[in-house]
Amino acid sequence: MLTIRIAPEAARRMRRACERAGVLETGGMLLAEYAADEVFCVLDVTTAAPGRFASFVRALADGLGKLDRFFRRTGRDYTRFNYLGEWHSHPSFALRPSAPDDASMFEIVNDPGTSALFAVLVIIRVEAGELRGGAWAYYPPDRREDCEFVVEGDPTNR
Ligand SMILES: [Zn+2]
Repeated sequence: MLTIRIAPEAARRMRRACERAGVLETGGMLLAEYAADEVFCVLDVTTAAPGRFASFVRALADGLGKLDRFFRRTGRDYTRFNYLGEWHSHPSFALRPSAPDDASMFEIVNDPGTSALFAVLVIIRVEAGELRGGAWAYYPPDRREDCEFVVEGDPTNR
């Protein structure tokens, strides 16, 4: 089972994006470090403007500049620092993937243009000021596995 850890700065960005979006879904890309065997640490996330994130469309246009900055900052060490997957909020429904979420993730991992061996989906919500969520790993052609989900260094999540 993979472990997905959310670093404090990434958690802050996600929380702020959720608070700005209110009842609307928001989301973006996960930028992560391969920290140890089966453990990924999300160091940064991209965020789409609220309302532009209709029904889980990848926010590529908003994210590309951010992605390039992340790669430059991490010395283009792609085996250690890379795109891990997608995140979005479920402000008012269950914290698990919907059928369209599964379909979108399988589309990503089965896309012949991406060489991804897998991709992770993180779904979150802010409840009483605390970040709650879960993570799932998607493998081609059609396998989904639960991940362990940990928000690091956030005293409200301990
Ligand atoms: Zn969803």
